[in-house]
Amino acid sequence: METPILDNHLHLDPVNGRGADAAEDFANAGGTHLLVLNKPSWYFVDDVNSVDDFRETFELTTEVTAAASERLDGRAWPVLGVHPALISQLVGDGYTPEEARDLMREGLDIAAEFVSDGPALAIKSGRPHYDVSDKVWDASNEVMRHAFTLGAETGCAVQLHTEGGDDFDEIAEWAEDCGLPREQVVKHYSDGPISGPIPSIISNEDGLERGAKSGEPFLMETDFLDDPERPGAVLGPKTVPNRVQWLLENGYEDAIRRAHVETPARIYGIDTEQTLS
Ligand SMILES: [Zn+2]
Repeated sequence: METPILDNHLHLDPVNGRGADAAEDFANAGGTHLLVLNKPSWYFVDDVNSVDDFRETFELTTEVTAAASERLDGRAWPVLGVHPALISQLVGDGYTPEEARDLMREGLDIAAEFVSDGPALAIKSGRPHYDVSDKVWDASNEVMRHAFTLGAETGCAVQLHTEGGDDFDEIAEWAEDCGLPREQVVKHYSDGPISGPIPSIISNEDGLERGAKSGEPFLMETDFLDDPERPGAVLGPKTVPNRVQWLLENGYEDAIRRAHVETPARIYGIDTEQTLS
């Protein structure tokens, strides 16, 4: 079956990992399109002290994404943002939650510049997936709402890293309050259908099967980390193409089209068929 195959969330690390070579594994397995997320800033710079540290991370990711794009029959786009767990590191380094919030919002401002200037497709934000103090939680929600405002101003989607679960209606409402339609909000690392944003489902068979059967928009991802010190910590770069094959064998052609053509067009405005050579 000739179909675009998109991994909606993977990391390529040009400094410590395999970088664009990992994209070649994806392509050899049948993958065609990638959304490449910047790794959390602490992989590249020891301490984030200024917005320039974010810029450096975004530039590295933009470069490796261009190199990955050359290896694909389709193409790759960067998705740039600030990892929500950074707030805990900053507070551990002596920042108040408000100061950490302000720095993280400035980082998102730069990510949005990379979208409006061309190379990046979307921005990434969210809130911690582990328990934090009320002050850190409130500051994190303010950072996330800032991402929604930037998405609305820039006209781009926002990928979220959050706690687990399946009811994110409140977050979708916040996005809409900020002017961003809920279908431009993507919940990364979903384990099946969710309420509120669009789920990007981690590519395990049972979650995908529930996404396929739901009839609702969804995306597929690996969250491949490209970290030589943590091999197998997440799914490998061939997983999405292999799971597409599995969906096909199980009669879910409609779901394949939904996850790799229709939903990407609806969320990001990308045409995965036109960009396939
Ligand atoms: Zn990730």
